[in-house]
Amino acid sequence: MNKPFLPVICLAIFFGLLVQPVFCAEKSSRYVTLRYSDRMLLNEFNDQLVLGRRLAYSLGRKNPVTVHDEVLAKVDLIIEKAEVVLDMFPNNLHITLILLPSSDEVSRVYRKKYGKEVDHIAYYSLSEDTIYISVRDTRLRVLAHEIGHAIVDHYFKVRPPYNIHELMAQFTEKHITD
Ligand SMILES: [Zn+2]
Repeated sequence: MNKPFLPVICLAIFFGLLVQPVFCAEKSSRYVTLRYSDRMLLNEFNDQLVLGRRLAYSLGRKNPVTVHDEVLAKVDLIIEKAEVVLDMFPNNLHITLILLPSSDEVSRVYRKKYGKEVDHIAYYSLSEDTIYISVRDTRLRVLAHEIGHAIVDHYFKVRPPYNIHELMAQFTEKHITD
């Protein structure tokens, strides 16, 4: 790194801190890039994300060693199952999953981006290919719902109307444990 660049980078980091939470860790798997601010949040997310019997069996076969590996394996399995539920298998599906501590932070990020007051525990940003989720409110069905939105978005060349998008996400949520 050349010295003159250092102040510029620091400045960028400084302003970066002002506009979004700091993400100290980033991990990727086949389908997902996972971002979170600290290890405790990752552990809590892992504890909250309880799989159904079949998905848990598939996870056991993967034999993950670390919490990182376990979380990524879980999310990949949920995505694969959601694709089966929807019978949609988009090419090159890769999304970002951002863990936030609570629905307050999710709503704050939403408000900053769209200028609207909401009370979301999770949402999928179509423009960013990104799921924002409150770790405190994380459940298999909540994540499956947002993954449903992501799959539908990647599958159709022309985006379906909002109500249809929502119905397909609800369908994914409902059948993820089958
Ligand atoms: Zn939805």
